[in-house]
Amino acid sequence: MTTKELKERVLQGYSISNEEAGWLAVQPDKEALYEAAHEITQALASKEFDMCSIINAKSGRCPENCKWCAQSSHYKTQADVYDLVDKEECLRHAKHNEEQGVARFSLVTSGRKPSPRHMEKLCEAARHMRRHSSIQLCASLGLLKEEELQALHEAGITRYHCNLETAPSYFPNLCSTHTQEEKLHTLRAARNAGMDICSGGIIGMGETMEQRIEFAFTLRELDVQSIPINLLSPIPGTPLEQQVPLTEEEILTTIALFRFINPTAFLRFAGGRSQLSKEAVKKALHIGINSAIVGDLLTTLGSKVSEDKALIEESGYHFSDSQFDREHLWHPYTSTTNPLPVYKVKRAEGATITLEGGQTLVEGMSSWWCAVHGYNNPVLNKAAEEQLGKMSHVMFGGLTHDPAIELGELLLPLVPPSMQKIFYADSGSVAVEVALKMAVQYWQARSLAAPSQEHLGKKQNFVTIRSGYHGDTWNAMSVCDPVTGMHSLFGSALPVRYFSTRPRSRFDSEWDAEDAMDLLDIVEQHHEELAALILEPIVQGAGGMWFYHPQFLREAARICREYNLLLIFDEIATGFGRTGKMFAWEHAGVEPDIMCIGKALTGGYMTLSAVLTTNEVADTISNHRPGAFMHGPTFMGNPLACAVACASVKLLTSAEYDWQGKVSRIEAQLQKELEPAWDLPLVRDVRVLGAIGVIELIDDVDMAWMQQRFVEEGIWVRPFGKLVYLMPPFIIEPEQLSKLTRGLIKIIGEMR
Ligand code: PMP
Repeated sequence: MTTKELKERVLQGYSISNEEAGWLAVQPDKEALYEAAHEITQALASKEFDMCSIINAKSGRCPENCKWCAQSSHYKTQADVYDLVDKEECLRHAKHNEEQGVARFSLVTSGRKPSPRHMEKLCEAARHMRRHSSIQLCASLGLLKEEELQALHEAGITRYHCNLETAPSYFPNLCSTHTQEEKLHTLRAARNAGMDICSGGIIGMGETMEQRIEFAFTLRELDVQSIPINLLSPIPGTPLEQQVPLTEEEILTTIALFRFINPTAFLRFAGGRSQLSKEAVKKALHIGINSAIVGDLLTTLGSKVSEDKALIEESGYHFSDSQFDREHLWHPYTSTTNPLPVYKVKRAEGATITLEGGQTLVEGMSSWWCAVHGYNNPVLNKAAEEQLGKMSHVMFGGLTHDPAIELGELLLPLVPPSMQKIFYADSGSVAVEVALKMAVQYWQARSLAAPSQEHLGKKQNFVTIRSGYHGDTWNAMSVCDPVTGMHSLFGSALPVRYFSTRPRSRFDSEWDAEDAMDLLDIVEQHHEELAALILEPIVQGAGGMWFYHPQFLREAARICREYNLLLIFDEIATGFGRTGKMFAWEHAGVEPDIMCIGKALTGGYMTLSAVLTTNEVADTISNHRPGAFMHGPTFMGNPLACAVACASVKLLTSAEYDWQGKVSRIEAQLQKELEPAWDLPLVRDVRVLGAIGVIELIDDVDMAWMQQRFVEEGIWVRPFGKLVYLMPPFIIEPEQLSKLTRGLIKIIGEMR
């Protein structure tokens, strides 16, 4: 056994044993131990330093007899004694810490637990702080029950702190008024109540190194990710007043062992660190301390935030440059109380994104399908600048303009020939809303044409296929996959649609005629109430990244014609070359009645979408009451967006650009370079079509971990669920694409 071997084991995701930790503790080469722990910290722990702060909201008069504690009424100490501070005082401290970029603020009280009256006041203080500030709140209020913890959580407290203090075998020597089991009970209850937990302790209270190791393993078993480490400050008047302090070497060895045993946790410097020399503090940071309680600590002096920050940065950690963002901006599909990390972008150029810290990432997502030409494209920039000099916006009601007209002229030759009318809209989801309204209004109009057609007015519902995604607005949501979409969440508030099974036949394999049977059954039974079938042709995007057989579209079109349903193609993601055809309908050669486009329409510069339809649909709507299509958004046909879209479409279709050549080169490279992913144990499927490469895994990914690893590899890839996929900008260079594929395979290979 060597230190290096044990380190490698931890880096591979395995635990060392208690005996091995004991062996590490006694190795004479301390520097080797520290360096090994440093490498683990670098590889597995957060390099964004986490600062938290506390208020001693009630001090002294504690009935418990913890031997280290200045606040115990069993001992005569100089500690302050005061009753619960009021909510304004809490808020003042919270705001002060928030202004200094401290991420969390904890309410700490002395005593076994607060009285019911105090609990109510503490909840009120938490609500007050949440109302007037956005710093994340923690609490450390002693031994609570799950209902009490639930009340705190409801009031806005997201993390509960309760130190186990020391090893289970040593705790009874230090305290006889409560047990560690009661603390564990509180921590488990806090988790059950939906809170994160924070638990550590004090070292240097007379415990042995073996007991510190035992303590670190107890925390590991609890899976605590925030571990405060206090160094005992012997308090005059307490039984530990004569305790001989640990040597710096003992402290640093303990930190290194804690890092070996809890490789991903925040090891948090807490009280007593002012005893250490500056050199020792630096060393501790190097070894594995990646968080701290800053400001004034309970009864022992902590340190001032600005001094702490300087030292921490010197040690190679960085601070979040997006604190305001975390506290106030709501990102897509994220929690505000426990947000996933976000990376701040300074600029983006070609197929790269440069982060605030200077790191450049190769772009694998085209910003969710849209930035097909990459970023900061001079042609698109020029179009925007020129249009800005004329007008960025005028209303489309009663007015028109060249950018809208020119864009229409550019689009018509690219879309199915029967698409003759264009309705501009704001975003993909709005385009889907417009398309659905159009279908309903079409059948309403048809029902007015003759008394014998009145029944057509009942055609107001929709059928779609499972695994689809069409956007997040109300009706768009109603036609998203009922399982992966938000149906259960919004319950009966969502209109109820019909869902047929998704086609199983793969794009590039044999067609199985069974695939269309479910759709046929549904339509046969319900056609009288069905206005349209809506689906994403060939490639299902956010609902599962699935590529299906073109024959399905032909069958679907036939069924729609036979049973009087309109056919709506959502080409918002597939449009503008992504699948190897300009639009995905071309793979099957069937034309829809209505088609939605968006995303890459402006080359990803700004939001714009369009709904295209036939003269038959448009004329029918127009020829019957009320004689107009009933939709008209404020920013319809926005000239700035249209001007950039014109430039983007012209660029894409120019001979020199050769989009088809670009996409087929990306396709060939993805096919070759993703092939080795088949050998990875957690991979279920690998599929490529056009400039889309998908690796489907057996299980959901740990998004925060994977995102961070991708960033460390210098690539920008955002997985979701079981899917890790690439859809790079068309202008990506082969070496850049190789960096993406290599990174994907490497990081998926690291998953356990
Ligand atoms: N339809 C499809 C097929 C999409 O992929 C998306 C976006 N992912 C939408 C609709 C919704 O577009 P937006 O996000 O612009 O509203």
